[in-house]
Amino acid sequence: MLVLASLGLALLLSQQTSNCPDCRNDPRRPLLCSAHLEAETTLLREQRALLARSKDIDERLAAIDKVAALTRAHANVPSPVVARFLADALRDESLAVRRSALARLLDGQHHDETVRGVLDGWKEGQKLWRVLDAKLVLSEGSTESGKAPVALTTEELSDIPDYTLALIRALGRLRDERAWNALHAYFRAPLDRTPGRFLVAAADSMLQLDSRKSCDATIALLAEIEDAFVGGQVPRRFAGDQRTDLLASLKAPLENASEHDHAEIVALLAQYATLRNLAPPESEEPLRAADWKAWLKLNRDALPEKIGAQ
Ligand SMILES: [Zn+2]
Repeated sequence: MLVLASLGLALLLSQQTSNCPDCRNDPRRPLLCSAHLEAETTLLREQRALLARSKDIDERLAAIDKVAALTRAHANVPSPVVARFLADALRDESLAVRRSALARLLDGQHHDETVRGVLDGWKEGQKLWRVLDAKLVLSEGSTESGKAPVALTTEELSDIPDYTLALIRALGRLRDERAWNALHAYFRAPLDRTPGRFLVAAADSMLQLDSRKSCDATIALLAEIEDAFVGGQVPRRFAGDQRTDLLASLKAPLENASEHDHAEIVALLAQYATLRNLAPPESEEPLRAADWKAWLKLNRDALPEKIGAQ
């Protein structure tokens, strides 16, 4: 019992962060004290060598954890070198390693390097999605024409979308103009090839950036989805009965936006209004983009003009 308790305590201590009075945030760059600089240099050399030689996922994940943990001893001065190491891991061939590096990067690491790293990771992640998207097009085509089916693995159908979602959520945590630009560009993705839940996650991230223009952009997205429904321009993407067909059930979470996603974005806007202590529009449910446009006009001045940097 005592052993267990002390093990628990050791674990707790290892998770704790502390500030170092000797590390300094110089206006030009963070300056680590000699002890922390030495710890960083030694560990990074070791773990870089390990990543270069080991293909073992557990070892690679452990390397990410160890390097990320360096910042805990001087949380007041996160090192850009550590953030860059984690950002580089967003190109790892294993999606598990990428996901772990992304989570560690968002956890108190050097702000500017984190922003750059996540944006680069987002670019890389979109490439993965585009390849999967092209395969989905071919796979649907072969189902309809009776040609040989395109091989799609369960991994591709679940891991790549999950990682894409993690990246979209990461953009909302950056609190930086550059994240707004990336999300705004994403809002222009074709509605008939972008999973509805990706758009909902992107709207959520956009609203987390907490500014007038993030509200503007989210309402514009809502209007676009609404227009597409009215014109019937967002057809179902995937054929097959998801209750009886395994492939169809794996593809179901990648479906185009639906009324359900529209309702989720409306709920996110209402949640944002509440968070800002503002009453949501008073129109009859379900609320539409026009209601939110009028709401924003009334409440414009109550919302921050700029996205706050951390
Ligand atoms: Zn220090």
